Amino acid sequence: MARPQFSRSFTQQPPIPEVGIEAAVAVMRSGRLHRYNVVGDEPSEVMALERDYALWQGAAYCLAVASGGQAMQIALRASGVVPGDLVLTNGFTLAPVPGAIAAVGARPVLVEITPDLVIDLDDLAIKARNSGARYLLLSHMRGHLCDMDRLVRLAADLNLRVIEDCAHTMGASWNGKRSGGFGLAGCFSTQTYKHINSGEGGLLTSDDAVFMARATILSGSYMLFHRHGAGPATEAYDRIRLETPNTSARMDNVRAALLRPQLRGLADSILAWNARYDLMAERLARVGIIRLPQRPAAESYVGSSIQFCLPGISKADAATFVARLAGVGVEVKWFGADQPAGFTSDHHSWQYVAPQALPNTDAVLAGLFDMRLPLTFSLEDCTLLADHILDAVAALAAEGRL
Ligand SMILES: *Cc1c(COP(=O)(O)O)cnc(C)c1O
Repeated sequence: MARPQFSRSFTQQPPIPEVGIEAAVAVMRSGRLHRYNVVGDEPSEVMALERDYALWQGAAYCLAVASGGQAMQIALRASGVVPGDLVLTNGFTLAPVPGAIAAVGARPVLVEITPDLVIDLDDLAIKARNSGARYLLLSHMRGHLCDMDRLVRLAADLNLRVIEDCAHTMGASWNGKRSGGFGLAGCFSTQTYKHINSGEGGLLTSDDAVFMARATILSGSYMLFHRHGAGPATEAYDRIRLETPNTSARMDNVRAALLRPQLRGLADSILAWNARYDLMAERLARVGIIRLPQRPAAESYVGSSIQFCLPGISKADAATFVARLAGVGVEVKWFGADQPAGFTSDHHSWQYVAPQALPNTDAVLAGLFDMRLPLTFSLEDCTLLADHILDAVAALAAEGRL
């Protein structure tokens, strides 16, 4: 019995909630789109979003910016990174992460990942000691958290300032504490493919007043830093306001209006993502040759995408596997390809970074497959997706290729 073709789009996100659309239209009717264009003491949508997000995140301060990439660049500069500095980061992440380091003139030091797709903390300790790097841009790539207790201890021992890239972990936590709260700052993206959608956008959180004052001036606040929803007290700006450049990376009121109702619905979205993720993970785990990244008990994740490995698969067989699935409408990304495609990327294609040998990461990526799980997929869709993957794995196994 042939299985039905999968016909849904892997890039179709749900619509913006009607209340968000109405709020965005009201901003457009008012003409006051710029975040500082307010009447009297009335808080702008961006100020309200900053307040809402700081509360949700449990952070003292929140700054809304133009993108996740800008949040990372600003965080690096505000934490003290200057051109030529070394910044440790995961060897497996997406291009905006090494891109943010390069954009501030710093040099990435790439750290190996484990088969569970998180940063290898032993390699981190070695590379931090050998390189003398003082900064870590930790990427929770594809929503996987490393042992955050050990990471925090290591960072203290190694004297590392930690900035978390939480583009895939908005709403995830470790032992009840939200990702983004373990170091100096957390960077979030509200780009269309992340957990809340304003097309483009970013959020930066921290508990450090001086850091956040610098970040606010960097984001392009002119001298209007008092018009922030969750910013530090004016005294924090005393010295900083004149010695910090303005890099114009603000969020506008239309985007903030779109985001606020989505933030209110985020807890429900997380439940819906995890129902989809858990269903697929349980089905895929029934087959021994498929390896799923282990999820530690301390981690509470957001399953907005799923990863699985076929360890030892050859390049040719991986390409066949992806092509066969594409033939039945199933879009699986493979991180082991020679050329980056779409949003996949691997450290060999970051030619602006000094080449670095990452044999363990390369071995993991060679057999790593990835799939987005947009909330427009139903649970039945996810069952069908898992069954198509199982069929394709069974076909390779029957041909003696696995
Ligand atoms: C999307 C993404 C970012 C940056 O987000 P943008 O808003 O697109 O700049 C950072 N890190 C990772 C891992 C991402 O996937």
